[in-house]
Amino acid sequence: MIWVIEVVVAVLAVDLVSGLVHWAEDTFGTVTTPVVGPWIVAPNVLHHDDASAFVARSWLASSWDLALAALAVVLLSIAGGWFGPGVAVFALLGANANQIHKWCHAPSRAPLLVRIAWGARLLQGPAHHARHHRGEKNTAYCVVTPFVNPALDRVGFWRVLERCCVPFTGAPRREDLRAIRLVRTAHRREVAVEQPPRWLARGRS
Ligand SMILES: [Zn+2]
Ligand SMILES: [Zn+2]
Repeated sequence: MIWVIEVVVAVLAVDLVSGLVHWAEDTFGTVTTPVVGPWIVAPNVLHHDDASAFVARSWLASSWDLALAALAVVLLSIAGGWFGPGVAVFALLGANANQIHKWCHAPSRAPLLVRIAWGARLLQGPAHHARHHRGEKNTAYCVVTPFVNPALDRVGFWRVLERCCVPFTGAPRREDLRAIRLVRTAHRREVAVEQPPRWLARGRS
């Protein structure tokens, strides 16, 4: 029965890792940052602007980098002698995290098995992922299951992480995300300029 615990931990762990990667992608760098700008930031900005933009991409186009990372995990675990059901599930879900995300934006293209998993609330579905695309797009970063996001968002995990980054990276929110907040706040207060939060201003020194 130990393998059941291993698999459950692996599923939650891969969801957490998907959230951490997504958060980092949405938080650091700009479209002009070398390498990651055109490779990661630009598609993410486009995805926030037009959520259906990446739906047409093939599995290979949107998952090759995750598949390579998953393969590295499997090879390392075999070399280290700790390969097992947990690692297999972690690698399988991790390699397909973008595909799972993509199905949320194209539910009609999702295979029957995926829809059954949505119905059983085992896999993250369109309604859950829609939370990330609301407002400032700074919650519900995890894309694999419906279990991890509610806990992390409830305790303000991502905001704490951002505050921890300030001494090392300065204000971490990317300009396109920050722009959304500026526009919204300006609209709410009917003023053109918003004073950034104190912790954000401190980080910019
Ligand atoms: Zn995002
Ligand atoms: Zn999305």
